[in-house]
Amino acid sequence: MADRSFLAWPFFDDSHRRLADDLEDWCRSELTDQDEQDVDEACRTLVRKLGEGGWLRYCVPADHGGIHENLDVRSLALIRETLARHSGLADFAFAMQGLGSGTITLFGTEAQKQAYLPGVARGEKIAAFALTEPASGSDVASMETAAEEIPGGYVVHGAKTYISNGGIADYYVLFARTGEAPGSRGISAFIVDRNTQGLDDSERIRVIAPHPLARLRFEGMQLPSTALLGERGRGFAHAMATLDIFRTTVAAAALGFARHALDEATRRAMTRRLGSGTLADNPITQSKLAEMVLDVDASALLIYRAAWLRDVAGQRNSREAALAKLYATDSAQSVIDKAVQIFGGLGVTHGVPVERLYREIRALRIYEGASEVQKVVIARAHLAEYRQ
Ligand SMILES: Cc1cc2nc3c(=O)[nH]c(=O)nc-3n(C[C@H](O)[C@H](O)[C@H](O)COP(=O)(O)OP(=O)(O)OC[C@H]3O[C@@H](n4cnc5c(N)ncnc54)[C@H](O)[C@@H]3O)c2cc1C
Repeated sequence: MADRSFLAWPFFDDSHRRLADDLEDWCRSELTDQDEQDVDEACRTLVRKLGEGGWLRYCVPADHGGIHENLDVRSLALIRETLARHSGLADFAFAMQGLGSGTITLFGTEAQKQAYLPGVARGEKIAAFALTEPASGSDVASMETAAEEIPGGYVVHGAKTYISNGGIADYYVLFARTGEAPGSRGISAFIVDRNTQGLDDSERIRVIAPHPLARLRFEGMQLPSTALLGERGRGFAHAMATLDIFRTTVAAAALGFARHALDEATRRAMTRRLGSGTLADNPITQSKLAEMVLDVDASALLIYRAAWLRDVAGQRNSREAALAKLYATDSAQSVIDKAVQIFGGLGVTHGVPVERLYREIRALRIYEGASEVQKVVIARAHLAEYRQ
């Protein structure tokens, strides 16, 4: 049984503790199937189920079908941690509803919010966030996809890659260059519905932990002027503001994977015979378990501090979110690797939970800012303090 004593920490209030308990019960009854065969169908089903369960209401604000007036990062993190502990695909389905609607929540017009957010919350509209391009991944500001203004709207040429929910999304939040200035100041955000002419989302990418992922191509795709999301030329800032919220929750998903691995490894160590005792009696195994416990607790402290800072202290938390993401994702990889080691040959056997976790954790150290990018954010914030 994964440790839940952290729920008593002062970062949370009673509504968070109830949320964690209720979601735990829901996961136990609803997330029994870990089918990796047809991820599109599995994701559609999970989005619908998460909507019916009311969990997607945490992804949108209260006046458009949500729970909290503003997005509550502690709730989002608790939900991702809990879902990830039970099912990586359920966490993915939840996360993309949040990330793919976050820019609309933060910067959309009333009409855009009404058109998209209630459907996201009910699990009826599948959302996606299209930022990365083949030639510009980490270096977002150098993106090339262009939206040229024409009478009544825009015409878009270019490509995006590694877009989660690509191929099954009902709409994409797209970032494209509108040319007001070079670099980060010449980018705008748009909402693109799935059947828009000139959009091709049919080319799939297969990754080590399968989930819907695609390349998008835009060949003369026409958008009405009402598709513009937020301020023209401020798309980069809008994307970063959205990622600021969800970066902490990527760390929370990593924590969920790590807790699951620790739980599996502990049970295995306590039952696997080694000489006259069990693996758990062995001091080297105990040292591994101690390091895993430390990583899990340190991650949880960093994550819920970052979330609390934003929710309660109302502070911009880029530094703390970067610390949480860097530490939680890197250390979850190490926790899961130790779990695989404790399982021995069984740990690399297809279908065993730690083998799946070993594949699931890897991409979290790359997307929404690779570990190296988090280090840049942390060092910049640290040095700025000294330069004042
Ligand atoms: C499973 C998965 C899902 C994804 N989902 C989405 C999505 O829904 N929407 C979306 O827009 N994108 C998505 N992405 C893309 C993801 O955000 C990019 O892969 C990521 O930003 C890195 O870009 P890149 O792959 O082009 O790597 P590159 O930018 O080429 O970087 C390669 C490596 O260089 C290193 N590096 C990068 N920057 C620095 C630096 N400043 N200093 C030192 N080293 C550095 C890092 O180790 C990095 O891994 C997804 C990716 C994956 C793998």
